[in-house]
Amino acid sequence: MAKKHRIEISFDECKGCGRCLLACPKKLLAMGKEINKQGYTAVEVAEPTNCIGCGACFYQCPEPGAITIYEIVED
Ligand code: SF4
Ligand code: SF4
Repeated sequence: MAKKHRIEISFDECKGCGRCLLACPKKLLAMGKEINKQGYTAVEVAEPTNCIGCGACFYQCPEPGAITIYEIVED
C-alpha cells in the first residue's frame, strides 16, 4: 500500500515567499489571509492529507523550521 503523508506549515515561521506553492505538484498549498508575527502573509495547507510526501515544498523553503512532512503510520 502506498504510504500516506501529511504536511504542516508553521504559521509564524513562514515568510510568505510562495516558493512552496509553486513547487507542489498536487497544488495543496495556498496563500493565506492572516499576517503572522513576522509580518508576513503565511501560506496555508488547503488539503493536508493529499500530500504525497515528495518533499518539493520542503526543499524550496528558505526557512528551516517552516515545513514539516509527516508519514502517516496506520495500524
Ligand atoms: S511534500 Fe510534495 S505533495 Fe506534499 S505539500 Fe509538499 S510539494 Fe506538495
Ligand atoms: S517556501 Fe517556506 S517561507 Fe516560503 S511561503 Fe512556503 S512555507 Fe513559507
